[in-house]
Amino acid sequence: MTQIGHEAGIILKSPRELAQMREASWVAAVVLEEVAQKVRPGVTTAELDDVAVNEVRKRGAVASFKGYRGFPASICTSVNEEVVHGIPGNRVLKEGDIISLDFGAQLNGFHGDAAMTMGVGRIGSEAQKIIDAARGALEAGIAAARIGARLGDVSAAIQSHAEARGFSVVREYVGHGIGRQLHEDPQVPNFGIAGEGPVLQKGMTMALEPMLNAGVWRTRVAEDKWTVITVDGKLSAHFEHTIAIDDNGPEILTKLQGFPEGVI
Ligand code: MG
Repeated sequence: MTQIGHEAGIILKSPRELAQMREASWVAAVVLEEVAQKVRPGVTTAELDDVAVNEVRKRGAVASFKGYRGFPASICTSVNEEVVHGIPGNRVLKEGDIISLDFGAQLNGFHGDAAMTMGVGRIGSEAQKIIDAARGALEAGIAAARIGARLGDVSAAIQSHAEARGFSVVREYVGHGIGRQLHEDPQVPNFGIAGEGPVLQKGMTMALEPMLNAGVWRTRVAEDKWTVITVDGKLSAHFEHTIAIDDNGPEILTKLQGFPEGVI
């Protein structure tokens, strides 16, 4: 039975629904990991998409993004100044690039969504700093996602972690509720005011996804009508986990522990 939260539009998941969603999320995480292991100088982003296609199929799941609003690939590959929604193609990764990989899987009628940014070979210290800050911002947001807290507490935790390290937070793209739909209520901004917004309840499931820029927060969409890039051409990094709000604190659904290979 699907339950509607007392905050309008937010769908709470039952334990049974969460169990199904945990499997979908695990597939998203494991496919992302398989793709990440193939990242190296000389590889094209289209080759990374091929890996995602094969790995998700092996597990009987479907790539959430393929065809979503017309997106032409299974994974988003966003390099350097590209923020999100990069389309895999013939671009060859080179030493010193950073690449953001974003992958969603649908299984059991539910979606899981995860992203990470990593270096291609050896990277510079500034590149490493923005990657670490984006990962840390996600961790700070997750830590704030507790029953009784407000959504603004999560947003503010992400924003303050990023800005304290000298990075800006993208405004035009945000995290989201997730479940039977890839994007459900509520929107989860990576900026905001603690104490504001909906109260977090047991059974809420959300994809938190801070996008940090090395320069200004403003972005624009490239000529391919998908790829989001920083307006100043400086680096951007992106991390994402699908989480569930539970009694004992937030559960990260898109992590690799818990479902050894072969269970699904
Ligand atoms: Mg997402």
